[in-house]
Amino acid sequence: MDTNKAKELAAQLAGADILVASDIDLSNAGSIDISLISSKVIDTYKDRQGLKILDNATLQEIISELSKEKAPISNPEVEVIRKPDFEPVAKELEAQYTISTPNVEGSEGNVDSFVSYFRSRLEQIRHIIEARSNLSGLLRSIDELKNYMDGREVAIVGIVNEKVTTKAGNVMVFIEDETGTARVIFSRYPSRQGSLLGEAEKIINDEVLAVKGKISGQFVIANEVLWPDVPIKERKQSGEKFAIAFLSDLHVGSKLFMEDNFLHFVNWLNGNVEGRKDLAGKVKYIIINGDVADGIGVYPSQERDLAIPDIFMQYKRLMELVEMIPDYIHVFMLPGNHDAVQRAEPQPQLGSEIINDYNMDNVHMLPNPSYITLHGIEVLAYHGTSLDSIIATIPGMSYANPEKAMIELLKRRHLSPIYGGNIIVPSKHDALTIDKIPDILTMGHIHKNGIANYHGVEIVNSGTWQARTEFQIKQGHIPTPCLLPVYDSENGTFVQIDFNVKL
Ligand code: FE
Ligand code: ZN
Repeated sequence: MDTNKAKELAAQLAGADILVASDIDLSNAGSIDISLISSKVIDTYKDRQGLKILDNATLQEIISELSKEKAPISNPEVEVIRKPDFEPVAKELEAQYTISTPNVEGSEGNVDSFVSYFRSRLEQIRHIIEARSNLSGLLRSIDELKNYMDGREVAIVGIVNEKVTTKAGNVMVFIEDETGTARVIFSRYPSRQGSLLGEAEKIINDEVLAVKGKISGQFVIANEVLWPDVPIKERKQSGEKFAIAFLSDLHVGSKLFMEDNFLHFVNWLNGNVEGRKDLAGKVKYIIINGDVADGIGVYPSQERDLAIPDIFMQYKRLMELVEMIPDYIHVFMLPGNHDAVQRAEPQPQLGSEIINDYNMDNVHMLPNPSYITLHGIEVLAYHGTSLDSIIATIPGMSYANPEKAMIELLKRRHLSPIYGGNIIVPSKHDALTIDKIPDILTMGHIHKNGIANYHGVEIVNSGTWQARTEFQIKQGHIPTPCLLPVYDSENGTFVQIDFNVKL
């Protein structure tokens, strides 16, 4: 018996008040990690009452179950070969892409960098507001407000610091610029324009907005809120005929990664599937919006949910799958919160140490977020981590309609406005503002497809390739796995192809 392993197991189980019988035998465990065994034991014993003792018979059952799970989910030798008579038009089209990625210089993580980070956010978005709205002569710095008499009409632009409901039932918002903090009241009594309380409900912390109102003592009584927003524009058309397939949240390595469906998709790209073969042949670009692997230690007891418990092997499998994609298709891959890079956003691209041997000319690892211009069509791709805090904060948002939350981000011209909702690198330049208006805004993270058009910007959430998780069942979220949105440049619209069924 391997006494060291037995001791390690006993130590790990002691924390869960499980004792270990003296005759346990770990010789069959092979290379299975002790922590995997202990988490499975804890799981097995979690509902048992009284004294918990791990006996050898139960241990052997657990080991044999784990060795089965360790086997690859699908045949890793599977090879997808392009159908000989398949003549994809995308193969003849010369690729045309430019990438623009966030500038994150000067992030020291101290108090000063937070100050300059928020200054940068305020400056960038104030610019957008000033260019868009007709605040004409009304705009004042907050410090100037004290010079004005009651009733004077003013407008300010600032960052939302805090929002409170007063005893009287009004909403008070603290708005800050470089010169001071203003207290802005949204009255519960409707004015000529109607009640502003509904507008006040949409105001979120740390966003930049403009307020028009009247001075009243030390307050500003609001009569209008203006978000930076985007102007209405024409849907962009490209002269070339091509298609872009949008994927995200593959979670390779998870037991719930739907590899067979993914292979069905790869087969479709290779012309081996009859349905929508015309569109398959047009696919020139694939954008994968993060959570490409499931990772390890992303949440407590994740080991239980992993088919591939080794992080390097997860990416190895991912790259094996990506290698089956025809090489005239360019694949752009971003990381997400599950991936093996820093959590704080903007996130750098997946490193060569993790995708080691896979150097494919058609596969591009990008930071999260990134702008990708394809034959003149500007795509802004972001994982979508901030959608959680947007859905939790703004009334009317839900996990069923990620596109609505994406529109709220676009209106605020920021990918992650609520500070602390998810981790941000406090760089000198706020690289998460939406400074350029994209033609297509794409995200993932919610595991639910959503498509909309807002002021001429195509909004697309590309869902997932992972089946419904236990967490999603508990939360009541219903994902839409293997439903592939494809943008067709010829008409500038999306179609969704369902890889849950045989095409
Ligand atoms: Fe995900
Ligand atoms: Zn995610």
